[in-house]
Amino acid sequence: GHAASDRLTAGLNPQQREAVEYRGPALLIVAGAGSGKTRVLTHRIASLIDGREAWPSQILAITFTNKAAAEMRERVEALLGEAAGGMWISTFHSACVRILRREAEAIGLSSTFTIYDSADQRTILKRIIKELDADTLGFTPASAQAKISKLKNELSDVETYARNVNTNDPNDVMFLEIFRQYTRRLRDASALDFDDLISETVYLFRAFPKVAALYQRRFRHILVDEYQDTNHAQYALIRELTRAVEPDVVAELDEHGVLVRGLTDATGAIPGASLTVVGDSDQSIYAFRGADIRNIVEFERDFPGAKVVLLEQNYRSTQNILSAANAVISNNFDRKDKKLWTADGDGERITGYTGYSAHDEAQFVADEIEALHGAGVAYRDIAVFYRTNAQTRALEEIFVRSALPYRVVGGTKFYERAEIKDAMAYLIAVANPLDELAIRRILNTPKRGIGPATETAIASFAEQNDLSFRQAMRAADGLGLGPKVTKAIIDLAKLLDAAAAMLVPSQKGIDEGTNEGASKVSDVLAFLIEGSKLVETLRTSRDPQDETRAENVEELLAQTKDFDRENPGASLVDFLTQVSLVAAADELDDASGTVSLMTLHTAKGLEYHAVFLTGIEEGLLPHQMSASEPGGPAEERRLFYVGITRARKRLYLSLAMSRAQFGEVSVAMPSRYLQEIPDELIDWKQSPGMATSRGGTQPRALNARRGGYGGGAGGGAWGTRDRDLERFSVTKSAAPKTEWANRVTGTVRDNGDLTLEAGDRIRHTDFGEGTVRQVTGEGTKRIAHVAFDSAGQKKLLIKIAPIEKL
Ligand code: ATP
Ligand code: MG
Repeated sequence: GHAASDRLTAGLNPQQREAVEYRGPALLIVAGAGSGKTRVLTHRIASLIDGREAWPSQILAITFTNKAAAEMRERVEALLGEAAGGMWISTFHSACVRILRREAEAIGLSSTFTIYDSADQRTILKRIIKELDADTLGFTPASAQAKISKLKNELSDVETYARNVNTNDPNDVMFLEIFRQYTRRLRDASALDFDDLISETVYLFRAFPKVAALYQRRFRHILVDEYQDTNHAQYALIRELTRAVEPDVVAELDEHGVLVRGLTDATGAIPGASLTVVGDSDQSIYAFRGADIRNIVEFERDFPGAKVVLLEQNYRSTQNILSAANAVISNNFDRKDKKLWTADGDGERITGYTGYSAHDEAQFVADEIEALHGAGVAYRDIAVFYRTNAQTRALEEIFVRSALPYRVVGGTKFYERAEIKDAMAYLIAVANPLDELAIRRILNTPKRGIGPATETAIASFAEQNDLSFRQAMRAADGLGLGPKVTKAIIDLAKLLDAAAAMLVPSQKGIDEGTNEGASKVSDVLAFLIEGSKLVETLRTSRDPQDETRAENVEELLAQTKDFDRENPGASLVDFLTQVSLVAAADELDDASGTVSLMTLHTAKGLEYHAVFLTGIEEGLLPHQMSASEPGGPAEERRLFYVGITRARKRLYLSLAMSRAQFGEVSVAMPSRYLQEIPDELIDWKQSPGMATSRGGTQPRALNARRGGYGGGAGGGAWGTRDRDLERFSVTKSAAPKTEWANRVTGTVRDNGDLTLEAGDRIRHTDFGEGTVRQVTGEGTKRIAHVAFDSAGQKKLLIKIAPIEKL
């Protein structure tokens, strides 16, 4: 190859190079975590452009998150040394939104359609279920939502479902009605849910071959990362996009001035795009959303003659980390055995830690992070993972107290806050006047005296007169309501209409098809906030939380200003689309110098110098919900595997022996997966507050922990157990071997026989002295409610809390 292509393949191993250089209709790269799959995709794109084999505009690369897309674009541009505009690097959802906004009219949709998120879906389903009394059959918004989503991911719509419905089963019949109404309401509101984005695009392509041909012609190279997590609908979309354009359609395109020269083969057809997919079946963690491992297995069958490249060497992690990952995943049946290996040496051992509570665990994490930081590891190169969002509470509390810079990725999402949804609903109602959900949300927010009865009156007036809700509002005069309410309704309609008028481009803009002359998004939002008194009402409220809410709305306003500055000429719909598509991982900001906290699902594809996997307990990982699902525990194991393989140099596995969940403190059990990791790979440490020294109840200095873990008094490491002491024992049906559990949890304090009652004074290792207010629960589950002199109110599981009676 010439100099440039050498540069693009330098630093790749022979298999990686082969994958970059292969030219053919279909290429499958299967490999374990950290073996350079994503890197190969990036180099492959750069090599196609650099070798003048493709224009940037002929490339469509699909990533799992918008964040991954931005990263891939940056890397391609760095390799090419120039911006590669026109390239589509995006998620499935973003690509589909782009296509649908352009082609909406073909399928009878407004191009300003709203995208409904999960909360919107549930609001609508809640209304439907209530109207149909479907709750008597056990339907909940969540269950109906899950079922609808599953059907859509299988490309099954209402008609298909209706054809197969068992009319003797009242549940089936009821669900059909829910599904039908749900579909109708979204239609009427010109709205799509997330699953629709994919399935409607597939439908569009199948129903309108000429529209499909525009995209089949355009994208000559389609590349998909994390292919193991595509579901059937996404798979169908790829199939449509990679179809050949038949000669008769090519001829029509040609007639309409679409350039086809140089693209056709001897028969006059445009051959299907070349397809590259990369994936790892061991990292498939979205089966619950319909992801289908079979997509990988069947790739060769569906794309005959596909080239398969296997990558073996791992370039991310130390051998100790990889050995742990190998050991864990080898417990899954039904997989091709592959072992991750690195040429970079064993590295340090994994650190295990058993805390006596979630807070203790969090304190360990915080202390270790500070130690790592002190040793030169940047905060942004450290991540903390957990299975469920609820686990962030303890971590955040401790991190705040330790003044540790952190960020929760995809946790309490800004855009899910009620006040932000309110402000967004104003914008949505302006952009899409058909969106009844948005307008009903703001009808009485802030309060303007429009109650539920009035809302229903408007709705039925609309229904009877075949009007939209918004039109019915404008005609509120004829509703026979009181003058004050009538005026409030009409004023709101006028406010929205006036805002909509601000969005109309100037005549010049209209002539040139640009947005010129239209008001900026931030100006429209400012106008709406002012006119509706949204912020003013929050500011003058007596609820102390409302001040924060007002600040949040102002933060949104600031964001629209940034958006206007960064996207000159962009429209309100562009802004709304961007907000809808903000995936969890998008909030990552590498430059910000903060520790990242995220769920294991969000962690996919990422890597960090140091990784903390927390809450490795039965019930959390595997999650209790997975127990009843076929394949559930195997999928949870893959999730654990994904977590382990994110770490480059340091891996920490931790758990807490008691955890508050759903307002109850319960004894936690080490996860069965921990047992699958060979002993010699992990150094176990325990909370010094938890382990007891001979004699049992010696008080410990308040700051004992600062002295370091596992060393010091009581010694937590496995080897230093004291046989005289009672062991922590567990009685739970799903428990792994108690013998083994004892090793992980070590010799711990057992206060089983400590009798406490209201009024007793106690001392706690961390919280200092306090007074028992109340004792609840029985036996091993007795909980002391304690008012500490300086640490506030706490609930403690008496059996294991590091406390003594004074
Ligand atoms: P995952 O399955 O987790 O998505 P992956 O297979 O996509 O992993 P990459 O993220 O592409 O792996 O690569 C893992 C790390 O190894 C990255 O930091 C990458 O830059 C590095 N890497 C990959 N190949 C090489 C190579 N040949 N030489 C040096 N470093 C490499
Ligand atoms: Mg990857």
